[in-house]
Amino acid sequence: MVKHRSCCPRCSAPLVEISFTQRGSTLNMRSCATCHSRSWYRDEVAIDLAAALEAVATNRAAERGAGAG
Ligand SMILES: [Zn+2]
Repeated sequence: MVKHRSCCPRCSAPLVEISFTQRGSTLNMRSCATCHSRSWYRDEVAIDLAAALEAVATNRAAERGAGAG
């Protein structure tokens, strides 16, 4: 799985990218080890941290309570 490497918009350092799948969507976290900026994306659309955390929390809850809702 080789993807093009993103660069930090602030300092142009290579970003560390972590991706995982959540309820059919792909979440990406891109963080910069140099200036500590961090950004989140869902299906390549930028989302804010709160939305990302909520998505992750929803994923955890779904694992425990499948069928609820
Ligand atoms: Zn940076």
